[in-house]
Amino acid sequence: MLLREGLEGDEMRKILYLDMDGVLVDFMSGANKLSPSVRRRFANRLDKVAGVFGLMEPMPGAVEAFAELSSLYDVYILSTPPWDNASGWSDKYAWVHSHLGEAAHKRLILTHHKNLNRGDFLVDDRLANGADRFEGEYLLFGSDAYPDWHTVVEYLRTKA
Ligand SMILES: [Mg+2]
Repeated sequence: MLLREGLEGDEMRKILYLDMDGVLVDFMSGANKLSPSVRRRFANRLDKVAGVFGLMEPMPGAVEAFAELSSLYDVYILSTPPWDNASGWSDKYAWVHSHLGEAAHKRLILTHHKNLNRGDFLVDDRLANGADRFEGEYLLFGSDAYPDWHTVVEYLRTKA
């Protein structure tokens, strides 16, 4: 829990980070839209296909969860685009714009070092890119405890 003495209003809210791929974003929904020949050529490295991040759909319940959690927390999107797929960086920005709207305004953080962001909660489906060293509470999306957005929101409602 971060110290918040002297803070007011929205700044009093706890800081919550949400991962994109596999959490807010259904990665395979985009990969499945690629042509069979591209899928063959990029097998096991579909995240390297130019434009693939722009084809992805939200995970079930993710858009609604983002809206509700934004009313309870100081929410940021904490995501790691592939270093060797430049379009992934702009595709993620465009995705946040089109799917999450005004509540996500200036709340996208792209990083390979998630541990450097201080906050209270991180919802992520992997321990990669510094998530394993995040200093707040880590919720493993897709685990038995948090298999979907329903369970994540139910828990976070009690913690705000
Ligand atoms: Mg992920």
